[in-house]
Amino acid sequence: MTSVVIVGSGFTGFECARRLSRQLRKHNASVDISLISPVDYMLYTPLLPDVAGGLVDARFVTVPLANALTGVRTVRGRVDDVDLDGHTLSYTDPEHRTRSVSWDRLVLTPGSVTRLFDIPGLAEYARGLKSTAEAVYLRDHLLEQLELANIDDDDRRIRARRTVVVVGASYSGTELVVQLRALADTAGEQMGFDPNEVKFVLLDTAEKVMPEVGDKLGERVQQVLRDRGVDVRLGLTLKEVHPDYVVLSDDSRIDTRTVAWVTGVTGAPLIEKLGLPTERGRLKVQADLRVPGHPDVFSAGDAAAVPDLTQPGKITPPTAQHAIRQGKVLGRNVAASLGYGKPKDYRHSDMGLVVDLGPHYAVANPLNIHLSGYPAKFVARMYHLYAMPRAVNRWAVGLAYLTDVFFDRSVVSVGLSTQDDARFSTSEGIPLPRAD
Ligand SMILES: Cc1cc2nc3c(=O)[nH]c(=O)nc-3n(C[C@H](O)[C@H](O)[C@H](O)COP(=O)(O)OP(=O)(O)OC[C@H]3O[C@@H](n4cnc5c(N)ncnc54)[C@H](O)[C@@H]3O)c2cc1C
Repeated sequence: MTSVVIVGSGFTGFECARRLSRQLRKHNASVDISLISPVDYMLYTPLLPDVAGGLVDARFVTVPLANALTGVRTVRGRVDDVDLDGHTLSYTDPEHRTRSVSWDRLVLTPGSVTRLFDIPGLAEYARGLKSTAEAVYLRDHLLEQLELANIDDDDRRIRARRTVVVVGASYSGTELVVQLRALADTAGEQMGFDPNEVKFVLLDTAEKVMPEVGDKLGERVQQVLRDRGVDVRLGLTLKEVHPDYVVLSDDSRIDTRTVAWVTGVTGAPLIEKLGLPTERGRLKVQADLRVPGHPDVFSAGDAAAVPDLTQPGKITPPTAQHAIRQGKVLGRNVAASLGYGKPKDYRHSDMGLVVDLGPHYAVANPLNIHLSGYPAKFVARMYHLYAMPRAVNRWAVGLAYLTDVFFDRSVVSVGLSTQDDARFSTSEGIPLPRAD
């Protein structure tokens, strides 16, 4: 039987599998569709800052593959190697066994991982925000540090425990810092210390916060951050990371035990292994999402450099907005390559961003209409509820938002994600030499 193998269950792989299966069922086609992923869910990443801030439960932002993908066989594993000429691939299952499968069509949607730099101590002591393990760890770790600071008697250690450094002032880093701030504020009230003693520093090498929302909204965001007591330092990054302090690129030092590295992403490690042309770490593809020179191989989403037909010469940015739509086009074009339907090129004009800035505030620029404050908050929350591809998740997240209106956040570290679980290597699959 003809087989299609999809690698990765993020927005792109998930939408591709759904669309492809639907299209093939419509034609009564007998094609075997498999989706291989290390996880059994599609992660709704835009709400990871809410998970880190203790606003939304991690389970609510994961959409199970089990009953969402009719006609698709889901396989737990991480793809290690692809033989493009032999039409096979090998993957490692959760029990570390290596298995091999063959394919007639291959869809590469392994997404992206946090972009790391060669900064001493970064991989060991900083944590990212790309997985549930990282988000849950950041919440638990911050609360634990605040609890320990409450009973510590060494001033320097207390200062380090009560200081959080977030690196990356684009939308995910900014959303993270305000959510952690809100969590620390609630912790202060409930645990009996002055929340203002918890310091937040947001760093970025750029000269502006969130350049993606434009100057006017960017200034509003900076004002909100200032009002919330976040110390925004632009034109700076980390030079060294140690267990209880960091050194910045201007040689200044900050005592801290919590460092979040949210500076951007690069294509998943599998992409580099293919030995095919890439652009900014992403696999080069044509506008019909085929890999040049390999008509049976397709790719899209964060893993691929998809030409942006609305802005010639550019590639589409790594956002869920594009990933979802590219996934649908992938499904259609893979079906067409098997003789079912007609292919089309990917074309989508960016619809803007929504950025939730914690209690009572957000900014958004849907269809280039600039919104801030409560109207933006309403649009941001409604957008996420609409975009989440499962009613149960919408219900649970909606209830979490409602609960937040009437009650304080729970100040509790559940302890489901350890420091090791949240390492870039374990949680995102980035190959790193272990320092210990
Ligand atoms: C904190 C955060 C907030 C964000 N907020 C927004 C937002 O508000 N709006 C927006 O538009 N975008 C947002 N994004 C960006 C958005 O999440 C990505 O663009 C989107 O997830 C890309 O989808 P994808 O399917 O290409 O990749 P991913 O979502 O990264 O999924 C890749 C999948 O492939 C799997 N995988 C990786 N390697 C392998 C392998 N070797 N074998 C098998 N499977 C593999 C992964 O486990 C995962 O399931 C945010 C991202 C983050 C991290």
